[in-house]
Amino acid sequence: MKEFVYSSLPSRVVFGRGALANLGPEIELLGATRVLVLSTPGHRSQAQAIADDLGRLAVGVFAGAVMHVPADTARAASDEACRLNADCTLAVGGGSTVGLAKAIALDCGLPIVAVPTTYAGSEMTPIYGITAAGAKKTGRDARVLPRTVIYDPDLTLGLPAGLSITSGMNAIAHAAEGLYARDGNPIMSLMAEEGIRALAHSLPAIRRRPGDIEARGDALYGAWLCGTVLGNVGMALHHKLCHVLGGTFNLPHAETHTVVLPHAIAFNAQSAPDAMRRIQRALGVDASTSAAAALFDLARDNGAPVALQELGALTEADMAKAADLVVNAPYWNPRQIDATQRADILGLLLDAYHGNRPK
Ligand code: NAD
Repeated sequence: MKEFVYSSLPSRVVFGRGALANLGPEIELLGATRVLVLSTPGHRSQAQAIADDLGRLAVGVFAGAVMHVPADTARAASDEACRLNADCTLAVGGGSTVGLAKAIALDCGLPIVAVPTTYAGSEMTPIYGITAAGAKKTGRDARVLPRTVIYDPDLTLGLPAGLSITSGMNAIAHAAEGLYARDGNPIMSLMAEEGIRALAHSLPAIRRRPGDIEARGDALYGAWLCGTVLGNVGMALHHKLCHVLGGTFNLPHAETHTVVLPHAIAFNAQSAPDAMRRIQRALGVDASTSAAAALFDLARDNGAPVALQELGALTEADMAKAADLVVNAPYWNPRQIDATQRADILGLLLDAYHGNRPK
């Protein structure tokens, strides 16, 4: 019998095609009357259109969100929120935009309404990250958990197929690690398995037809489940590897998760047999295909990168540096990580570097 503690995070989710139409009433339900709309520079016109639709509820648009939330950007956005006397932020976009809203919440306590347009899952977590002087500081704080999340698959139709696959793999990574989390629980395991299943079935359909609204709905549903798992239980080796690789070599977030995941899962396979069975079941493979190999196939067969060397100007020596960083400050992991594991971690990284299919 597995013992567990379960507590749920207080967020409201409105899901469905056309759900964006509920935005005004949802903002009013929070008691907010002066909303600052946030987006990346490329989505300024979408953010402005949403602000226009909100009418008097929207007091401005800040379209400066960029990857990894630089402290300067966070400060400029907070200043703008203060200048406009905003009482709420509305993040329309992926993890970078939600991340900016979280930095504002941390600074001045403004509640967040999130409208996610990727599958990264940040909207369901109380985890923030802010980058200063080249180092990303992350932490957990209840104030940064979005109060209301509106999932509308119409807003994901423009997510290019390639980014949809890697973003979906990023979501699957949250669920896969949630299945062997030290603080896991039966509810999160149900959500994780269902989240992987929903994404594994919808991503190939999205690759064939990026405008398939049914597949987009399923993928967003999977992203919600996987993001919820990320927000509720601790992550392990895979997330540590991606944190190190992204932070040290400035690799793209979703692509790095896509490449590393099969190798982290292979590394942990012997120590987490129940999680492996659940991943295999969710991916629809039998015992003859390992969970790790099935994840690799899902990425490769849908045109995603499978080798770290495809992602940037990396060398094998960089993998040795990454292995040191991982074993010197490990996260908890079902297979214990310490200095004696350095050779195996380096082997994992070299397999990921070359794009070898795990057994
Ligand atoms: P992102 O938000 O940077 O988006 C990637 C690119 O896609 C951007 O240029 C964006 O403008 C564009 N884009 C977004 N939605 C689009 C759409 N529907 N159509 C077309 N283009 C679209 O990337 P991401 O992968 O969503 O998020 C990555 C960031 O989020 C990282 O910094 C990561 O650390 C963070 N993150 C944080 C958490 C957390 O819990 N704190 C969880 C997951 C990710």
